[in-house]
Amino acid sequence: MNRKEPKGDYIVRATAYRGAVRAFACRTTALCREAVRLHQLSPVSAAALGRLMSGALMLAHDLKESHQSITAIVRGDGPMQGMTVVAQGDATVRGLVIQPVVETRYARPGKLDVGSAVGRGTLTIIRDLGLKEPYTGTVQLVSGEIAEDLTYYLATSEQTPSAVSLGVRMGPEGISQAGGLIVQLMPAAGESVAERLEQRVVGFPDVSSLMDEGFDPHQLLDLLLGDPEIQYLSTTPCSYACPCSTDRMRQNLTALGRAELTGLASDPDGIELQCHFCGQSYHFNQDQVQDLLDQAT
Ligand SMILES: [Zn+2]
Repeated sequence: MNRKEPKGDYIVRATAYRGAVRAFACRTTALCREAVRLHQLSPVSAAALGRLMSGALMLAHDLKESHQSITAIVRGDGPMQGMTVVAQGDATVRGLVIQPVVETRYARPGKLDVGSAVGRGTLTIIRDLGLKEPYTGTVQLVSGEIAEDLTYYLATSEQTPSAVSLGVRMGPEGISQAGGLIVQLMPAAGESVAERLEQRVVGFPDVSSLMDEGFDPHQLLDLLLGDPEIQYLSTTPCSYACPCSTDRMRQNLTALGRAELTGLASDPDGIELQCHFCGQSYHFNQDQVQDLLDQAT
């Protein structure tokens, strides 16, 4: 086979079984490392956020426009408390964890216990296509392990039977591999394809251990689907990126409203804002805050 795969992070999209199945797979190792660097995440938080970022990136991969986005919000009663991820149609993602540092616990040897760090709670997916109202769906968490929760969301909220597998593997020096795959049955899929796929999904190894063995996203789909006529539709590099800017921060300030701005404008030092997704700082001096107040309605 003659394929040109990027060396770094990328998402691949494919169809198989004559269009009855669509599939996505991604490698997100570098962008997960970037999230760890930005947010100083402990291993369990890194695994949780990495899984959610990988899942959201794949969900966002069928958006038509680069500014369209999928926001995934997990709220739980575990020590991590929750996280928010935004993936855009241009294959960029950003995310944050409410409590970036939590105790490292293992569900079994070598397997970080993400579920208990997340706890019981909800998963909300906001699909923003740039229309007036974004589409929002919320489900209860199944296990807090993220892949199962996304699978349940897709089945109940979007009526799409899916298999989701997400993995973030830790090595001695942080994340060694991260990625995932999503396989979905299209409405036209017959019973036989559904059964065949189910058999292949059951017992499929952990994606991050396969990646550790050298499997790339294409090979993950080859192995899982086992369809020699699989068609790869696109291969897209993905990365951690934040679109924050002085303009956006100004809009956020204006959105606070007159009462809040009046209070802020009284500070002779002005105000310092920090983006929660990338850590970038923005300073507005007192005159600038006063200008915003003057323009506010
Ligand atoms: Zn930012």
